[in-house]
Amino acid sequence: MRFCLLASGSKGNSIWIEREGRALVIDNGLSCVEFFKRANQAGLVTSKIKDIVVSHEHTDHIGGVGPLARKLNLTVHMTRLAALSQATRLGVVRLKTFETGQTLDFGPISLQTMTGSHDTVDPIAFVVKTNSKSLGLATDLGVMTNLIHQNLRNLDALILEFNHDLNMLLDGPYPFFLKQRVRSRLGHLSNEEAALALKTLTHPGLKELVLAHISQTNNTPELARLAAESVLADQAHRPNLTVASQFSPTAVIEL
Ligand SMILES: [Zn+2]
Ligand SMILES: [Zn+2]
Repeated sequence: MRFCLLASGSKGNSIWIEREGRALVIDNGLSCVEFFKRANQAGLVTSKIKDIVVSHEHTDHIGGVGPLARKLNLTVHMTRLAALSQATRLGVVRLKTFETGQTLDFGPISLQTMTGSHDTVDPIAFVVKTNSKSLGLATDLGVMTNLIHQNLRNLDALILEFNHDLNMLLDGPYPFFLKQRVRSRLGHLSNEEAALALKTLTHPGLKELVLAHISQTNNTPELARLAAESVLADQAHRPNLTVASQFSPTAVIEL
């Protein structure tokens, strides 16, 4: 399996997953122009994409889904409840709905879906699997639930939200209601919360760790990295660490 975060953060997210010549995209908050530019920059071939899956209906995840689906003739996969709430927003697309908890089958790639904790109708987190590799994806998560934590154990790779530094958020420019939203059970994971989860999720088989959805206002890539490093420092086997960016794609990570 290879994967690449074309963008990560509150201005737009897009994750590319590929196996045996078939690719799927999870979320797209980028314009078509930006999506193609970044895919090209990462050396990815867009004709391989057949499907796009939506984690939840915030603009940074769904904003570019309709245009990209029309441009590349993709099937859009969304939970039934999320689709109901977004009926008009996607425009005309080939839509396939599913119930949270279902495993979606894309030939050599399967996607296990699980309920998230976020302020949208039916947010989901994922475990991506091929016959031999596994990748967990959990961002936009107010709290690390038992369900998600259990499913993220013993994977080959993890994409985990390190959204904000608590002090930067509390001392920062956000209005109080927004600070409260970010901190709530339906908001985002702080560096400290993500590091705490990482402590019990890291294991000798974890090869790749990506820190994702890092706030530009309430965090820095360095603080997120420090929080993760503080957990990994006393591990005998350390995963490769990638810090995803809002502005440019990560390297294509091979599992
Ligand atoms: Zn988001
Ligand atoms: Zn969100």
